[in-house]
Amino acid sequence: MKRKIIGYHQDEKQDWVADLDCFHGQHVRHEPPFFNRPWSDTAEGRASKLGEVLDCKRCDDLEFPEGLAEYKRTPEFTQDTIPKGLLKNHTTKLGTWGKVHVLQGALLYTPEGQPSTRVHEGETANIPPEMLHHVAADGDVRFYVAFYTQLA
Ligand SMILES: [Zn+2]
Repeated sequence: MKRKIIGYHQDEKQDWVADLDCFHGQHVRHEPPFFNRPWSDTAEGRASKLGEVLDCKRCDDLEFPEGLAEYKRTPEFTQDTIPKGLLKNHTTKLGTWGKVHVLQGALLYTPEGQPSTRVHEGETANIPPEMLHHVAADGDVRFYVAFYTQLA
């Protein structure tokens, strides 16, 4: 999934890592001949790439980023009370990760362009910001969705 560079930090080996707007990081080291990114070696070069877009595989893999905090959650829904909006393709906004918590039964979770996952009782599923997805009850189900962001 395409994500914008919003900042940088250095890892424990002093390699430069781009901070993406999904809260994942991605290495941008200059390591010729394998990685030819001379811009990452200078403050000016890094600044010039702010706002540019990188492909974030960790979002495609639905990998929940570290360091996020829950700020809101929905009420519990059942197969009879799932809001219609959740059954159709929809997204969370930029800066918001969702996590579906299935309390009972099972829920089908389908991120756009990916196979459906059956989320069972006691399990969770991650929803990246702005990724189209929908859910469907798989028999009787009880679940809620919690929302996470990076708190300053
Ligand atoms: Zn990402």
